[in-house]
Amino acid sequence: DENLEDKVVLITGAASGIGEQLAYAYGRRGALLSLVDIRKDKLEIVADKAKSLGSPDVTIIAADVSKLQDCHRFVDHTVNHFGRLDCLVNNAGIGKPSEFKDWSNHDSEFTPIMDVNFWGSVYGSLCAIPHLKTSKGRIIVVASALGWFPLPGSSIYNASKAAVINYFETLRMELGWAIGITIVTPGLVKTDLGFKLTKKESIMGIVPMALASELAESIVKSGCRGDMYLTEPSWVKVLFPLKV
Ligand code: NAD
Repeated sequence: DENLEDKVVLITGAASGIGEQLAYAYGRRGALLSLVDIRKDKLEIVADKAKSLGSPDVTIIAADVSKLQDCHRFVDHTVNHFGRLDCLVNNAGIGKPSEFKDWSNHDSEFTPIMDVNFWGSVYGSLCAIPHLKTSKGRIIVVASALGWFPLPGSSIYNASKAAVINYFETLRMELGWAIGITIVTPGLVKTDLGFKLTKKESIMGIVPMALASELAESIVKSGCRGDMYLTEPSWVKVLFPLKV
């Protein structure tokens, strides 16, 4: 297992779910953490736990990833505090069931999904890349299997994740492999968002839901190597027979 002492890892959406578990997985390996979320109260609790698990220093920033000026602020704060940045984890994401009939009536309810999931990941990366080039660091972006294989019931969410996958594939080429990029495409995960999204979906009960803690462990274990995709085997097994 990789020793991440002296590595500075910035995680967005760290107050709950997968981001929270990533904070603990990195914390256990001794990484220095910068945790970002719109929910500051919960971030404080996560920071204390990450410290108790082994992180020597954790700093928290309340910020909205869908705002470019917020992304500048949390990246600058991290680099001022720790002197470097080794890994940006673009994890913050939102979603809600969105069928065509819903979407045509309530634009304003759904546009934030693209703003947070797509633009949030793009903005965070734009701000972090100069520092990641210096450290020969890495971006990990949490997309979704729904970005590969769309299923009915969450069209805008699916599209936002497809955009994320496509953007980071392009970015990797444009940067000439100067930094590592890991695109994670999980299936269903037991988090607040996971339960919300599956309410209306036909896959509920067919695809097993992963534990956020187990997913976080596998991201930290394999996400540090090479350029890759991480997709849960359970999801691939269910979906490939449907597609082929
Ligand atoms: P979650 O709701 O438990 O956690 C998401 C966190 O992001 C929350 O703490 C929330 O406050 C924060 N957040 C939301 N908007 C933000 C913003 N504008 N700025 C900063 N922080 C913000 O959900 P999760 O399931 O842990 O989701 C984490 C990532 O995993 C998301 O990108 C999600 O799309 C992706 N994902 C989840 C599943 C699943 O089944 N749960 C599957 C595939 C991908």
